[in-house]
Amino acid sequence: MQLTGRNIIGYESFSEGTVAIQGVNPATGEALSPLFFKATLDELELATEKAEKAFQVYRKKSGFEKANFLEKIAEEIENLGDTLLERYMLESGLPNARAMGERGRTVGQLRLYAHLLREGSWVDARIDAAMPDRQPAPRPDLRSMERPLGVVGVFGASNFPLAFSVAGGDTTSAFAAGCCVIVKAHPAHLGTSELVGLAVQKAAQATGMPDGVFSLLFDDGHEIGMALVKHPVIKAVGFTGSLKGGKALFDAAVRRPEPIPVYAEMGSVNPVFVLPKILAEKGRSIANSYLASVTLGVGQFCTNPGMLFLENNQDFIDEIEKNAPHTQGGIMLTPGIKDAYVRGTEHSKQFTQVMGVGKAPEGFTAVEPVFLRTDIASLNAKPELAEEIFGPTSLIVEANTKEEILIAASNLDGHLTATVHGTPEDLIEYSDLLDILEQKVGRLIINGFPTGVEVNHAMIHGGPFPATTDSRSTSVGTKAITRFTRPVSFQDFPDELLPDELKSDNPLNIWRLVEGEWKK
Ligand code: NAP
Repeated sequence: MQLTGRNIIGYESFSEGTVAIQGVNPATGEALSPLFFKATLDELELATEKAEKAFQVYRKKSGFEKANFLEKIAEEIENLGDTLLERYMLESGLPNARAMGERGRTVGQLRLYAHLLREGSWVDARIDAAMPDRQPAPRPDLRSMERPLGVVGVFGASNFPLAFSVAGGDTTSAFAAGCCVIVKAHPAHLGTSELVGLAVQKAAQATGMPDGVFSLLFDDGHEIGMALVKHPVIKAVGFTGSLKGGKALFDAAVRRPEPIPVYAEMGSVNPVFVLPKILAEKGRSIANSYLASVTLGVGQFCTNPGMLFLENNQDFIDEIEKNAPHTQGGIMLTPGIKDAYVRGTEHSKQFTQVMGVGKAPEGFTAVEPVFLRTDIASLNAKPELAEEIFGPTSLIVEANTKEEILIAASNLDGHLTATVHGTPEDLIEYSDLLDILEQKVGRLIINGFPTGVEVNHAMIHGGPFPATTDSRSTSVGTKAITRFTRPVSFQDFPDELLPDELKSDNPLNIWRLVEGEWKK
């Protein structure tokens, strides 16, 4: 399939703009062709006009129709075959196994949502029937369910060119909710974005979805992204990226005449705690698993374990110092991400002890892993050491006592995850630590590592600020759908005018809360 560099607006493609955007191969620094056309404000306007009209049709599509659409997108992505994988690798510097794994995750999450829609109970239907004879006043018939919000703006994430980009988790959950989507492509993977965008466009046409259910715009800088967030047609935003970017979009959204929610996932340091008894039993093996987790995917995961706390244990430290120099770095996604990593690690090195620096391959954006060490007192004196450095680096923080560990946990900001390694005795003795951590994160892990995020019904990929702008949500897993819905009550509606989900004879056979009891 030939790339065109054109913006996708509903069923059409446009290149009215005069500003060209060119991708870069992060492994070689070479410019990639073709040139992409930055969207114009007129093109954004057209995308929003189409989306607004399309929403009036798409919001009425049944769960079965939306499921067919999502499955068709998955099929069309698979049909792109090696063309997609090759472009992904060229633009991201990530290897073939990761490209294949991420494609599998992307089509898997589309199919998971299709299953959720066919099952249908996710709408949270609630029915309290009328009681005309109730005294002193009759009770009306009230039925409620989740309904779609409107048109959603999605920002593709640099670190998941498929699973969190054009047809990734945000787009999939918004489509499943019944929302139309306008994606602002991430400039780090323009070609991958166009290929997937064309797959979505094809699937929309093939399954009879309205023109405008999906658009994809390219931008060089922030003009189009910011205008998208401020546009009155947009009713919610999904974003994964930096704290600076996510907060800027959030601030713009709340300052609109009509404020809207921005679901920004802005990463975190994902603290790991290794407790004393397990350190004595398995310290060496945990040290090596930790080195592997920090360097996985060149550390470019939101769930990378960027900080590890322990009470003094020289064997653990020795193991890290012995093996850190053998760890492998890699090619980072963009020159900007590499620069931020180098700046961040160089700054931290000035205030910590360097335990080991791994190897870097040849390459334009190649970096080496960096492992650092400090103690609680130094961390308290320089709290910025606890800020995320995106990439294969981590800071080991040594405490003298359990009390110091608990205070350090209490001082943590919001994170996506926290991990505790402990024997059964450790975990009982440190149950107060678990209690503190539950209030800081979206996912608590025992005796594992936070990298590796399952996409299923129970996954929470979220957490208190600054990990996200809304701790009540997740951006991964089927629960993400409710970011793009709102509950509506229908009072005293004739049965034939109610959505099928709320009709008295339950034609969809879904689970509903009827008079306070879950029933089919
Ligand atoms: P980013 O700079 O936050 O950018 C993400 C997307 O938002 C891009 O499309 C970007 O456009 C756009 N954007 C950023 N600031 C904006 C603003 N003020 N107004 C409108 N649009 C804006 O993230 P990135 O490019 O992926 O990587 C940069 C840094 O983000 C990394 O070094 C890392 O620290 C962090 N990051 C974190 C995670 C995570 O853990 N959640 C994931 C990826 C990256 P432009 O590219 O044109 O600026």
